[in-house]
Amino acid sequence: MALQERNKIYIDKEALSALSLVQEGLLYPVTTLMNKTQMEEVNKTGLYKNQTFPCPFLLSPSGRRNQAVLSSIKKGEALNIVTEGRVVGKIIVEEIYKIDKHQRLEKIMGGDLSTQEASSTLQRLGNYAVSGKYVVIFKDIKEAKKRLHEKINLTNAKQITGIMMSAKPFHRAHERMLREELEKCDLLVIFLLKPYKKDFMNYALREKCMQYIANNFLIKDKICIIPLDDTYLFAGQNKMILHAIVAKNYGCTKLIVGENSPNLSVYYTDNKRHSVFDRLQGVDIETTIINEYVYCSLCKTLVSKITCPHGHHHHTNYNSESILELYKLGILPPSILVREQISAMILSGLHPNRFANLKKLYYDIVPSDGILNNKSEEEFYIKLMGLYQNPIQM
Ligand SMILES: [Zn+2]
Repeated sequence: MALQERNKIYIDKEALSALSLVQEGLLYPVTTLMNKTQMEEVNKTGLYKNQTFPCPFLLSPSGRRNQAVLSSIKKGEALNIVTEGRVVGKIIVEEIYKIDKHQRLEKIMGGDLSTQEASSTLQRLGNYAVSGKYVVIFKDIKEAKKRLHEKINLTNAKQITGIMMSAKPFHRAHERMLREELEKCDLLVIFLLKPYKKDFMNYALREKCMQYIANNFLIKDKICIIPLDDTYLFAGQNKMILHAIVAKNYGCTKLIVGENSPNLSVYYTDNKRHSVFDRLQGVDIETTIINEYVYCSLCKTLVSKITCPHGHHHHTNYNSESILELYKLGILPPSILVREQISAMILSGLHPNRFANLKKLYYDIVPSDGILNNKSEEEFYIKLMGLYQNPIQM
């Protein structure tokens, strides 16, 4: 192997993001790659330095080139880390060791191995792990951390609540949940999950919607929106535990989670709610599971299922998948589900320039002041929603 190839390993952006998360202290007490002894300890106990850590933090990239490099490199040598053709960091090799891929997968997934997520994670795994001190360049996390710390200092916030959201789409029940929490905390940190896989509703669109709600309908000074890379690290049941660790390390004192979130493993014994958070040891953060809201057609508002006396046949659920289905088909969801401004942003983002003659539609359907220049599709949807809500008497 040529010398310049002998000291390079190739990783994707997702792995780079994970390395950066640790480098920035957001998975503390994990501060670097684990060696074999540490891996075995975490596998056995689920603890690292007396704190819950569900899965060893390893670098074991797959690929023929990486296997060749890792099987021949020696302790003390430097490896350049390459992502998308660029050197993005360096690692000083301390130990190279073989891993059991199946056990590794089990630990990453924290359970179910039959999912699509599990099979794509398996493909990422190589035969060797490398440990040692490293540095990587990945500015996104550094910037987010700085922005949040400035906000904490500015507001002198003590009670800081974090929430992890995909906001796909951001619906009324989300808004209600945030509103209630804003009454209790000094600062609300919305970690907006940033997917690595191709997604039909992209991050920029979700962030635009989220920002719009924060600016117009919530107390924006008490809100900070932080992107959180939704990498392979946050898989299966480990996701919730790692989210709590990340939120704590970002400075949050509390993490709230909606009770319908997947992987929460909620069950009840003697009227007491249990969840995956019962496993948390030594991680200094309060975790709260929030009862989710439904729209009740008799109460005519959002209610918690626990406090509304009307049966479920009067309730409309806020199921993100189903609301997304409407957007995919180009249908405007009722405004009890999603604010019309948000729906307008999403529909015009997902189906741009769909109207052959928008001007004519405006002219025929929407009551207007007669000035029809440069009307946008986004605005058209909002006007249309207004019309849906008009009563008619004959
Ligand atoms: Zn009701």
